[in-house]
Amino acid sequence: MKFATKAIHAGVEPDPATGAIMTPIYQTSTYVQEGVGNHKGYEYSRTLNPTRHALEQNIAAIENGKYGACFGSGLAAIDCVIKMLNPGDEVISTNDLYGGSYRIFTTIFQKYGIKFHFVNMQNPEEVRNLVNSKTRMIWVETPTNPMMNIVDIEAMSKIAKSCGAWVCVDNTFATPYLQTPLDLGADIVMHSVTKYLGGHSDVIMGALVTSNDEIAKEMYRIQNSSGAVTGPMDSFLVLRGIKTLHLRIQRHCENGEKIANYLNQHSKIEKVYWPGFESHPNHTIAKKQMRGFGGMISFTLKGNKLEDALEVVKKVHLFSLAESLGGVESLIGHPATMTHASIPKEIREQSGVVDSLIRLSVGIEDSEDLISDLEKALA
Ligand SMILES: *Cc1c(COP(=O)(O)O)cnc(C)c1O
Repeated sequence: MKFATKAIHAGVEPDPATGAIMTPIYQTSTYVQEGVGNHKGYEYSRTLNPTRHALEQNIAAIENGKYGACFGSGLAAIDCVIKMLNPGDEVISTNDLYGGSYRIFTTIFQKYGIKFHFVNMQNPEEVRNLVNSKTRMIWVETPTNPMMNIVDIEAMSKIAKSCGAWVCVDNTFATPYLQTPLDLGADIVMHSVTKYLGGHSDVIMGALVTSNDEIAKEMYRIQNSSGAVTGPMDSFLVLRGIKTLHLRIQRHCENGEKIANYLNQHSKIEKVYWPGFESHPNHTIAKKQMRGFGGMISFTLKGNKLEDALEVVKKVHLFSLAESLGGVESLIGHPATMTHASIPKEIREQSGVVDSLIRLSVGIEDSEDLISDLEKALA
């Protein structure tokens, strides 16, 4: 089945009790058993809930995987992955990781004896140099936030195979419509469903997908044992959101391209970061592993003045100043004072997060209105 058909139909059957075409919100904690051990597959909703189950099957299908699991947030999904490891194990990850992932790795799991390395993953050599007998996982994020760097998933999978480690890809920015890491050799895909999969800025949720039987067993064991599951109402909202994922991402890509090109020729703009440009340092890899370049764009202003950037984010009207991304509405953010404020200036500047850097999550409004909003703010 092709993507659009799976997005709408996978995991979703008419309700056996009533014929309802939409999966009902099974707002229940428990299920009545006819006799001890004689039930319909559901015993307790932490373990399995029909609405969540439909969504887990749907997300697994669109990622071209066999098994899906949904969690109370993207970070709860990450928590489940790292709990598959043991004290002494090592993880190699990227040095421009999502801040929350960096925080859970270093402030939660490091003290349980798991070691994390952070390298420039655009250079596979740096990853290869760190591999040793304790390496158990390579944690990839691509495109990265907010610099839109691209990591070669196939190259990372090859390195992992050579040392018996697993590759987990945070696919939040690309979504399975643009990139399917399992097809490129990854073992686990992770999502902050909060962003594009939900798509309407109304849910916090995470998900994992794998095709590996051994990983799946651990994933469900930890999901049930740690209990960081998502509820049936949120599962329903995301099932609804995913039905239009392909249409939304098509428009995010179209608007993203128009706005990236507009910004690129603007006299007040120094540099635009968007993987669709041929001049982007990893454009060849982006073209190889992605089916489009999305609506996430960052740019810097000439002169690199903090006041100028703050002025622009204040003057826009259609773009709302907020953290997060991936909703139908356009958002604007200032990484240096918002998402990356806790990182020391010298360190964030090394990775490109300078004072005038502005990040856009381009929504699916009319592109002419969005450009005219930016035009006024930049004037
Ligand atoms: C938001 C985000 C997360 C964390 O997900 P939550 O749903 O906020 O817990 C992880 N990775 C990336 C790339 C994100 O954008």
